[in-house]
Amino acid sequence: MRSLDFARDDRCIMNADAGKTKLVDSLDVERLRRDFPILDQTVYDGKALVYLDNAATSQKPEAVIDALVEYYTRYNANVHRALHYLGEQATARFEEARGKLARFIRAPSERNIAFTRGTTESINLVAYAWGRANVGKGDVILATGMEHHSNLVPWQILAREKGAELKLVPIQDDGTLDMESFASLLSSNVKLVAVTHMSNVLGTVNPVKEMAKAAHDAGALILVDAAQSVPHMAVDVAALDADFFAFSSHKMCGPTGAGVLYAREELLDAMNPFMGGGEMISKVNDDYSTWADLPYKFEAGTPNIADVIAFGVAADYLTDIGMDRIHEHEKALTAYTMARLEEIPDVRVFGHAPERGGAVSFAVGEIHPHDLSQYVDQQGIAIRAGHLCAQPLMRRLGVTAVSRASVYFYNTEDEIDRLADAVRKAQQFFGHG
Ligand code: PMP
Repeated sequence: MRSLDFARDDRCIMNADAGKTKLVDSLDVERLRRDFPILDQTVYDGKALVYLDNAATSQKPEAVIDALVEYYTRYNANVHRALHYLGEQATARFEEARGKLARFIRAPSERNIAFTRGTTESINLVAYAWGRANVGKGDVILATGMEHHSNLVPWQILAREKGAELKLVPIQDDGTLDMESFASLLSSNVKLVAVTHMSNVLGTVNPVKEMAKAAHDAGALILVDAAQSVPHMAVDVAALDADFFAFSSHKMCGPTGAGVLYAREELLDAMNPFMGGGEMISKVNDDYSTWADLPYKFEAGTPNIADVIAFGVAADYLTDIGMDRIHEHEKALTAYTMARLEEIPDVRVFGHAPERGGAVSFAVGEIHPHDLSQYVDQQGIAIRAGHLCAQPLMRRLGVTAVSRASVYFYNTEDEIDRLADAVRKAQQFFGHG
């Protein structure tokens, strides 16, 4: 699988004194941080902000913010319809963004790329437009025990409506999928395998290429929830052989309200539209319509023009840094985060998959994650606490909630040190580990 091999550990050296992994950084993080105005601020009574909630949403570089301002100040117009200068500018930039996103995930064509509001809408699009036509009574949808609610609830709704069954591949103690169970659950009744590429809780990177092959051999399709992978590693949808592939702009330096559904062209061709309205039609008769060409058949109404254009700028920004370099930096920083947290007594980190990304969930003794996150927030450090939209996984872990620190390429070891210090202080404050 492309780029799941984090490799090139020669970029890291061990600091023998502290047992720390020090980055010999291929990224100039300090320079990159200057692209993000929001990071350069103090909160509360003068504490320098540490932002470690990147799995929820990433921060935005100036280039992306400028693209939004430029659209609204220079060429705001509707796309695909206006026969005037501004409309042509807007349409050209909007379609340019489609090309950028297609290249970013190595899609064969721009026809594979439908713009949506984000991962959640992309998955619902598949559940409604493909699922309702292809899943019936007695069929099985196979998801996993580590799915985000976005890749679970749409399948629950579909299964209930159609009399189909939703089964979950179990998780092993290290946070990897039980691949033997996966193989045995892959019966001929399975119509779709729905799996996250990278867990937003455990960080686990799932072997989606291997799973795609097994799914196809069993006559099923595979949908990959790539919300947490595309921002952090180079991906190649064609090499992965994904049938459907969903991701969001806001987790990869782009604005909120924009996302992509990639799908194989034959599937998109055969699918009914998700929503009806303007722009998705070819001809509208009094009592029936024919559909626009791909991918416009799936883009009813005025799209989120400014945010899609800025999404394309975000993809360019990440490409300029280099996805492999981003991945290497995050791999080392994740290892450092886990090591710094695990050396604290009574701290338990969830998820030790050999291939993992930078979402690090943990428990600190009996301190409730909400109390912990509020306490570290007072130190200027933003982490997440709660069920992280993964309640079935929380049950598997035997908890109702976790705390989560999640890193991006602009985070540093110093910031992780501040988190570790704040966790130790929290233990003293709450009087127990
Ligand atoms: N899947 C995963 C793995 C996620 O982490 C998220 C966002 N937390 C989503 C899906 C949903 O993404 P969005 O809210 O952008 O639709």
